[in-house]
Amino acid sequence: MTGTLALMGGRPVTDLAWPQWPRPQADAGTLLTLALESGRWALSGEWKGHRTNEQRFAERFAAYNEIGHCVPTANGTSALTIALEALEVGADDDVLIPGLTWVASASSVLNVNAVPVLVDVDPETLCIDPDALEAAITPRTRAISVVHLYCSMADMDRILDIGRRHGLPVIEDCAQAHGARWNGRRAGTMGAIGTFSMQQTKLLTAGEGGATITDDAWLADRLFQLRADGRRLATGSLLPRDMELVENSSVMGNNYCLSEFGAALLLDQLAVLDQEHQDRAANAELLTRLLEKIPGVRPVRPAASVTMPTYYHYAIRLDLREFGGKPLRAICRALRAELGYPVQPCYPALNANPLYQPHTKRRYSISADHERRIDPAGYKLPEATRAHEEVLTMHHPFLLGGEGSMEAVAAAFSKVRTLVSQVPV
Ligand SMILES: *Cc1c(COP(=O)(O)O)cnc(C)c1O
Repeated sequence: MTGTLALMGGRPVTDLAWPQWPRPQADAGTLLTLALESGRWALSGEWKGHRTNEQRFAERFAAYNEIGHCVPTANGTSALTIALEALEVGADDDVLIPGLTWVASASSVLNVNAVPVLVDVDPETLCIDPDALEAAITPRTRAISVVHLYCSMADMDRILDIGRRHGLPVIEDCAQAHGARWNGRRAGTMGAIGTFSMQQTKLLTAGEGGATITDDAWLADRLFQLRADGRRLATGSLLPRDMELVENSSVMGNNYCLSEFGAALLLDQLAVLDQEHQDRAANAELLTRLLEKIPGVRPVRPAASVTMPTYYHYAIRLDLREFGGKPLRAICRALRAELGYPVQPCYPALNANPLYQPHTKRRYSISADHERRIDPAGYKLPEATRAHEEVLTMHHPFLLGGEGSMEAVAAAFSKVRTLVSQVPV
């Protein structure tokens, strides 16, 4: 191929207008206006004679996940925090987390004064490596918090078995995998508690929002209180102007409640989630077939047990020898210029992540021993480190485009590989 990279002033492979995210559906405006005019803007407001959006969403999301209970939260970080609190994880306990994830996996553990123990990932799935996980268990370990990352899922068969044998509860962080299925079972329903984020970029979103799910009524009651300053729902009949939340706590909480406006948007978005999953998965399969024909381009395939894949990010491992030995960051810049769409390296490993700096907060200076144990510099995470050098990711909105846009993505990889000598480093 002759020609010039778009980055060097050539013609880009496409000038497509990519799909926008989020995508409000038909009911969004009506639901928001109803909440606005009802005068009930929060769960912690006065009873207005009907159920809140928050309760309606909780019921629908539990049903969607085929599980008994859902407790919505303000965001995914608070969902993780109350999941740990509900499971009575606290001061100085070790919690095993993957070394490749969003920073909230670690900061939520610090939030309950526990110690995040970083475990390396499986290079095929980029999710926590079960062998490394089991090797990291010590008498101080109190819980396992796994993440279903990008487009794959952690190996739940092995992780549940490890949890059972060691008597450790498993939290499933599904912030990137709402509705995914592992051998038919929804993500978040296999461990003790599943947690979700509904932040702007996620597959189910209200701008900001979150949720926890569980089949255990005792845990659900604790989760409810932990996110509502210890309050519970009134059980008797209510009169207008009564508060629906009553102060009869069995556990102290914080305010991590989802607003009525967020819940309205989630009701709107949940209605189309499975259809969108199918559309994204069909495009992802096509794109994978196209990319696998290009030497050095290896899309990350969901594990074989993932019977319903979800694509928060589409991830691709490059053999950089096929790309002139140039750094991934430079290849990403060239691809972005061809596509007019962001292409970026996957997360940095947590021991090298600029967002993960526990020593910058005085609240974690509990003792010299605690400070040593929470220091991320003490970990070696070779696979997570290598992933950041070799794996690039593309955020999901492009997967709602037409088939032509998948061909454009494949054409961009092909062009950048062929003209890689032009890529500036
Ligand atoms: C987004 C995300 C979170 C945090 O969710 P927020 O709603 O931003 O607090 C936690 N874990 C993972 C894996 C995420 O992707």
